[in-house]
Amino acid sequence: MSAITMRALTKVYPNGVRALDALDLEITDGEFFALLGPSGCGKTTLLRTIAGLELASGGSVHIGDRAVTQLPPGKRDVAMVFQDYALFPHMTVRENIAYPLRIKKVDRRARGEKAAETADELGLSALLDRRPGQLSGGQQQRVALARAMACHPQVFLLDEPLSNLDARLRLEARTFLKRLQRELGVTTVFVTHDQAEALALADRIAVMEGGRIRQVGTPTEVFRRPANTFVAGFIGSTPMNLVDAEVRDGRLVVAGAPLPVPDDTPVTDGEKLVYGVRPEYLDYTAEAAPDALHGQVVVVENLGSFSLVSLDLTGDGDAATIQVVVPEGREPQPGDSGWVMPRPGRSLLYRDGEL
Ligand code: ATP
Repeated sequence: MSAITMRALTKVYPNGVRALDALDLEITDGEFFALLGPSGCGKTTLLRTIAGLELASGGSVHIGDRAVTQLPPGKRDVAMVFQDYALFPHMTVRENIAYPLRIKKVDRRARGEKAAETADELGLSALLDRRPGQLSGGQQQRVALARAMACHPQVFLLDEPLSNLDARLRLEARTFLKRLQRELGVTTVFVTHDQAEALALADRIAVMEGGRIRQVGTPTEVFRRPANTFVAGFIGSTPMNLVDAEVRDGRLVVAGAPLPVPDDTPVTDGEKLVYGVRPEYLDYTAEAAPDALHGQVVVVENLGSFSLVSLDLTGDGDAATIQVVVPEGREPQPGDSGWVMPRPGRSLLYRDGEL
């Protein structure tokens, strides 16, 4: 069993920065788990604290039923792949892959065999005698993964594994990584600040802010039902529309227009809330429609098979802009007047920033 359990995990750096703030998190055995969040939220610190490269200031880390909080990295049975891969430039691919086995005092012949076997699994057999400087970024990444795999660790920790690759290679490496993790079934935690990468790869995602976890869920859960306005604004290639709203006569008034209250959420008249809906879950129409918001088109961004259209809402409420995804060929022009209709069951209400 190699579940990872963190309880009240705290890390305060000597300069007083509280990078992890009494964080609780459970990562299941065999899970592909993403740590996501803006720069400085504590993702790397959390990964390094699991690895033992940082010691916790408080709280605990367990791997399976072993308390590892005070153990040095070598005793935790984890392998970490660094953002820059940290390969030894003077060693061949074979020697790089075999290096952790050398540290473990595995004999030379067994090391060579194991390195060749791992290289084969990752399609690196033809490159065994090259040095890192003679490899592409994608190949270097595979060598770093092979080196991590060679010891059969209980846990893989990957720090921004794809960030050094160019856009095309990154997509290819993403698919490769997902397949590899499925096949190996090893509990894997990876850090990313790229929400699309987290959604594409992970079984579950923890969204972090200021050393704390704001939501843990499957990609579908964090995309469809962000637990708070922070996650709502962070997840999605176009962020969720978040607009001030007020309850009047049992209806939700958004920029002067009354909409049905989403999902029969209990509300009180006069209450001020934030109405959330993704641009993908709004339909645009040039004709007046019931339960729709009226606005004037201000920007049309062509994104290939669809456009992202921004409208300034023209109701008698507070000024607000809303974005809607419009399929190719149906885009309006800036200056046009139009209506946007939320799809049933796809709107959310936030009270004091929480769902
Ligand atoms: P990024 O995406 O930019 O890598 P991150 O989410 O991984 O950010 P961390 O690197 O974990 O964030 O940093 C969390 C906080 O701790 C930041 O405020 C950072 O400045 C601080 N920090 C990180 N490492 C140290 C250190 N060795 N000493 C002091 N402060 C540190």
